[in-house]
Amino acid sequence: MDSYIESVYEGIKEKDPDQPVFHQAVLEVLETLEPAIKKFPKYKEFAILERIVEPERIIQFRIPWKDRDGIIQLNRGFRIQYNSAIGPYKGGLRLHPSVTQGLLKFLGFEQTFKNSLTGLPMGGAKGGSDFNPKGKTDSEVENFCTSFMMELYRHVGQFIDVPAGDIGVGAREIGYLYGAYGKITNLHGTCVLTGKGRTFGGSLIRPEATGYGTVYFVQEMLKTRKDDMKGKTVCVSGSGNVAQFATEKCTQLGAKVISLSDSSGWIHDPDGIDAKKLAWVMDLKNVRRGRIKEYAEHFKVDYSAKGSPWSLKCDISLPSATQNEVDAKEAKALVDNGVIAVGEGANMPCVPEAVEIFQEAKVLYAPGKAANAGGVSTSGLEMAQNSMRFFWTREEVDAKLHQIMVNIHQIAYETSEKFGDKGNYVLGANIGGFLKVADSMIAMGYLS
Ligand code: NDP
Repeated sequence: MDSYIESVYEGIKEKDPDQPVFHQAVLEVLETLEPAIKKFPKYKEFAILERIVEPERIIQFRIPWKDRDGIIQLNRGFRIQYNSAIGPYKGGLRLHPSVTQGLLKFLGFEQTFKNSLTGLPMGGAKGGSDFNPKGKTDSEVENFCTSFMMELYRHVGQFIDVPAGDIGVGAREIGYLYGAYGKITNLHGTCVLTGKGRTFGGSLIRPEATGYGTVYFVQEMLKTRKDDMKGKTVCVSGSGNVAQFATEKCTQLGAKVISLSDSSGWIHDPDGIDAKKLAWVMDLKNVRRGRIKEYAEHFKVDYSAKGSPWSLKCDISLPSATQNEVDAKEAKALVDNGVIAVGEGANMPCVPEAVEIFQEAKVLYAPGKAANAGGVSTSGLEMAQNSMRFFWTREEVDAKLHQIMVNIHQIAYETSEKFGDKGNYVLGANIGGFLKVADSMIAMGYLS
């Protein structure tokens, strides 16, 4: 590794030694930036790498809330405002017991490059809490979200920072957060959050966008090999927002999805999860808030609490649950079973060794910051519609989303070619996302 790049990487490890997942994300990006750093000495001269790895601002706060028995509970909340060089901070909120500052720094860092790739004016951010919404009543979730917003409202706004959903934050949570924001500030109709309900400013296709976008990106990768989705067997992990709509789009395009999972286990349905079965899953997960095991009981298919869907034979793999869910052994199994494309619906679901295995085997591999950028892109489209006080139709938003995914693919593909490793989407997406942010930072002076 180039000594300048190495010194930046060593610097973040020294400053925050207890944030391994953040180190992993930074290393993955820095390693691939080497050709750009060598070609353009200005990035070293203006200390761009040192600045880009450091969040502009980290906000941490306490969130007291009352549970169903009236007992006061306490959680920790964060908002990491990473980079505002190209627009207001933008990125999701995650509610999961594993949330720490280091985890959100990894996600906010990734988000900065992802948002740049979309071509829309959005900076990078991420936030959330170690609150676990699982098993909570609606009232408890509402109490928590209201208390969360009691602090967050000071730091967000349509021209400042615009959060959205992520793991554990869906339509219900965004509704409570937005309601609390309106009550606290008396500002209404402002795009302070995206992923809002359709009746109060949300964009059509936003719920579908991340899953659909991931499949659109995979479609573009397949086109480079004169192939398409039709007739392909697909393994999907997760059963939340991204997994559900990735499954829907695959099925619409003539592919067959044979797996889904949650944090307890995974199901294998060799006949495929068609539209009717998917509607059942959506009701299970979004309304009844049950476990994927119930799918196996209802449709009489295999369920396992051990291992993962990556042991199955498939053409396409779409990891759509969480970070580091595909290890080297699983990647090898996928390759041995003939996988031709991997599209990351989740953020950083493949460990670095797994990525190497895919790349060595010439599997079409799309990193999350490119493949799952459809969600934030459509959030950008929600911001645009709210500013116009106007709504686009489902078809209009879907067409724009599709075009954005085609553009992101083109940027990643052409950048990989320009920097000497055609078809390396990791390199293409990282450099493609980096250049715009870095050049903006230089143009706006050293304080940015
Ligand atoms: P959801 O909360 O809707 O679903 C998450 C799914 O992943 C659930 O099935 C959940 O199972 C499973 N999961 C979560 N944590 C773990 C874990 N530690 N081990 C195994 N399974 C786990 O989240 P989303 O679908 O929104 O997000 C999924 C991924 O996609 C995340 O990486 C997120 O950052 C990324 N992403 C999401 C975007 C969006 O628009 N929603 C945009 C871009 C990226 P269980 O219910 O048991 O916890």
